[in-house]
Amino acid sequence: MADAPASHTNSWYAASAPERPLAPAAQGELRTDVCIIGAGFTGLSAALHLAEANVPTLVLEARRVGWGASGRNGGQLHPGFNKSPIELRRNYGNEVAAILGEIAHDARALLHDLRARMTLDCNWRAGLLTAIHKPRHNTVAQAYVEDRLTSAPSCGCTWLNAEDTAARLGTNFYAGGIFEPDGGHLHPLRFCLGLARLAEDAGACLCENSPAQRITRCAEGFRVETSNATIIAREVILACNGYVEGLEPEAHKRILPVKSFIIATEPLTPALQPLTGSWAAADDRFFLRYWRQSHDGRLLFGGGDGYHQRENIDIAGKLRRNLAELYPQLAALRIDYAWGGNIALTLPRLPMIRRLTSGVLAAGGYSGNGLDKSLIAGRILASAIKGDDTRLGFLSRLPCRVFPGGEAARFPLLFLAMTWYAFRDWLG
Ligand SMILES: Cc1cc2nc3c(=O)[nH]c(=O)nc-3n(C[C@H](O)[C@H](O)[C@H](O)COP(=O)(O)OP(=O)(O)OC[C@H]3O[C@@H](n4cnc5c(N)ncnc54)[C@H](O)[C@@H]3O)c2cc1C
Repeated sequence: MADAPASHTNSWYAASAPERPLAPAAQGELRTDVCIIGAGFTGLSAALHLAEANVPTLVLEARRVGWGASGRNGGQLHPGFNKSPIELRRNYGNEVAAILGEIAHDARALLHDLRARMTLDCNWRAGLLTAIHKPRHNTVAQAYVEDRLTSAPSCGCTWLNAEDTAARLGTNFYAGGIFEPDGGHLHPLRFCLGLARLAEDAGACLCENSPAQRITRCAEGFRVETSNATIIAREVILACNGYVEGLEPEAHKRILPVKSFIIATEPLTPALQPLTGSWAAADDRFFLRYWRQSHDGRLLFGGGDGYHQRENIDIAGKLRRNLAELYPQLAALRIDYAWGGNIALTLPRLPMIRRLTSGVLAAGGYSGNGLDKSLIAGRILASAIKGDDTRLGFLSRLPCRVFPGGEAARFPLLFLAMTWYAFRDWLG
């Protein structure tokens, strides 16, 4: 008997997104110019930009479109990379930091452009408040705001003192905050399904329930094998992010999957809503907490402690405790959905976007900040295949070392590192 088709994880997103008809699995021998592996934001953006340039493109998705991080994430748009422009200048120099700044700017613009082209409403709301959890972090926060205002005077980025932060968040847990009107949040699975539709309309072929099992070189380029099909392609794009596992060793060695979790409460009455606006909130811990109101009035509250690889975690219990720390009045709320997913970390905490070898391109490792960066990564990979290697060449030169410890020790070493970061969060 054939395996039952995979379904999306049981999340509030899956419950509030339209059902997409299952695309047929890849069958037999298929020929294409580009075979993309993974149908999340990265793979679908690459597919769209290739198909729009009439490059024959086939996407293999192991389960369903948006099954991975793209259909489960916090939905929060953080302007910029995980490292602030100040850190980027310090670590990589002014020139590299400036190009990364342009890429981050284009990533946001691309997200809004795609959103505007979709027929599916992905519930976009503008505004992001980053809460500062220790008073001494306010100096860094203020420097960040000044720096943003210097490079983009109209961005509206504002530093908030503890009182103003408490007024907006409905908790006096934090020492300050940064408000960014050009951040925001959306429904990631609806966005992903909308993106898949754009890619298909442009001519890309999507195959679901089609895990790629092997990639080998052949005279025409590459053979990508699934259990029922062989795809012959000139070039391959790996867009598996935190789910790459053993398919390709170079990406696997540089990307480490860590868990993050989200709960969706029952819908709240306006009197119980803690946030006093429709913006998203996140804090500045290493194991950050992130929350926002859904369009149907639920509180979506997320966080993670990273090093768990176990599947049987009491997600609801764990996040309820974190929620109660900020909002004791919400401790007894009913939790209707609880789910988790793989965040893909890299050592520098910048995405790995590069040509792995001639004909094999990869992007992933967004380190929890991939909502828009994965979209621009897909476009950069597509541009390189179409002949413009400028940005891919630049990004391929950025260092992205392999995680130490090899296959046997990388998770134990990660456990030690994460314990250290959790301790630092606790210390401040
Ligand atoms: C819980 C959580 C919260 C997050 N919150 C945020 C946030 O608020 N803001 C933000 O910017 N980022 C956030 N992120 C990160 C963000 O979701 C990712 O950076 C982004 O979705 C990456 O997209 P992707 O397409 O590269 O990977 P994914 O969406 O993970 O897609 C990879 C796909 O590859 C498929 N695949 C894997 N192996 C194979 C194979 N062998 N054959 C075929 N297909 C395969 C998988 O099934 C999967 O669908 C969060 C992530 C998680 C898990």
